[in-house]
Amino acid sequence: MNKKIEMSVPLVEMDGDEMTRILWHWIKEFLITPYVDLKTEYYDLGLPEREKTADEVTVKAGEAIKKYGVGVKCATITPNAQRVEEYKLSKMWKSPNGTLRAILDGTVFRAPIIVKGITPLVPTWEKPITIARHAYGDIYKASEAKVKAGEKAEILITSPDGSNRKVEIFEFKSDGIVQGVHNLDKSIASFARSAFNYALDTSTPLWFGAKDTISKIYDHRFKDIFNEIFENEYKERFEKAGIEFMYTLIDDAVARIMRSKGGIIWACKNYDGDVMSDMVATAFGSLGLMTSVLVSPDGKYEYEAAHGTVTRHYYKHLKGEETSTNSVATIFAWTGALKKRGELDGNIKLADFAKKLEEATIKTMESGIITKDLVPLFHRDNITPKPVNSKDFLLAVKDNIKL
Ligand code: NAP
Ligand code: MG
Repeated sequence: MNKKIEMSVPLVEMDGDEMTRILWHWIKEFLITPYVDLKTEYYDLGLPEREKTADEVTVKAGEAIKKYGVGVKCATITPNAQRVEEYKLSKMWKSPNGTLRAILDGTVFRAPIIVKGITPLVPTWEKPITIARHAYGDIYKASEAKVKAGEKAEILITSPDGSNRKVEIFEFKSDGIVQGVHNLDKSIASFARSAFNYALDTSTPLWFGAKDTISKIYDHRFKDIFNEIFENEYKERFEKAGIEFMYTLIDDAVARIMRSKGGIIWACKNYDGDVMSDMVATAFGSLGLMTSVLVSPDGKYEYEAAHGTVTRHYYKHLKGEETSTNSVATIFAWTGALKKRGELDGNIKLADFAKKLEEATIKTMESGIITKDLVPLFHRDNITPKPVNSKDFLLAVKDNIKL
């Protein structure tokens, strides 16, 4: 056996919940620690530990990512009323992803893993389409009201000195509804920088679409901030990398995406990103093949799978029944983080190992050895899909690792 690959700087490892926590430990045991002398700073974000530490552990993990620059996270439960009961929680703790996003001020990039045999529903899509979703403001932080006939709605903006100005919204002749939304220049600028950095990082063109023709101040501000930052800070680097940045109307962006071959990062405002990421994920196949990375404007990275903790499978597992849970997105969270750590530290062996683990994972699926969720999607001439259980899939990947 060759000597294990060494690491100089630790990865921030964030453990999680339920079925994905089981997969997490198997991935490490079968696919990583036999080859890498794995150095991590471990944070247990499993719900029992978040309860025990009053969620302090999540904040500490976020601070550690800020310090070291790269983290890898397992899916975690976001508590709701039922979880409060199930886990006897003292409080309905906030979503760990929300907490980490707030600490890192980052943008989430979601990209599908492309596998021969799993064909996107859009036949022209050959390469992944990555959605970069702005994760602050707009309708997600809105105030709304029902309005009665005869009432008038206005926006009142008050200065610290008490002076104010009004913007009329509408005089209601009949009953209706009204909504107030906001965003921040600072947040839009962080979003833009994260998107530009990620495009350079992956040598992928970047498109951004909004509705500035209709929303002449609000959406136009997004357009202006993107263009300003691009001209002042990124234009030359994009030219050098041979990639483009394009702003276009959101409707035009949708039409172009549908006709494209893929291989694009599509930056979306909050709502557009919410909706379009579901469309893109569905068209590319399965949630089990969707990766996610949170990138901060100052270049910190947190990798994870886009799916949740796969609760239904976990309860089967607890009953001693066999599961066939897709671990691919979680494997790619690990490879993404190891690759980035390798790049940052000039550790070529580590980056190379991560690439080989990805290749082994894809080769396994392309040979028809897949988890059950992929069976209805898999079509390849002369290859009959062979569904396997969660553990056997990982062992098949291990067999394909060629160092
Ligand atoms: P989910 O865990 O993604 O699972 C939804 C369903 O999708 C599963 O029941 C399963 O379908 C299928 N699925 C998802 N991932 C799969 C995989 N890797 N392999 C095979 N099938 C997969 O979403 P959820 O049930 O809405 O949420 C469960 C928990 O996860 C919640 O507590 C939620 O808070 C949390 N969550 C966490 C994150 C995160 O940490 N990033 C994201 C989303 C949700 P079948 O049951 O039909 O097989
Ligand atoms: Mg959505």
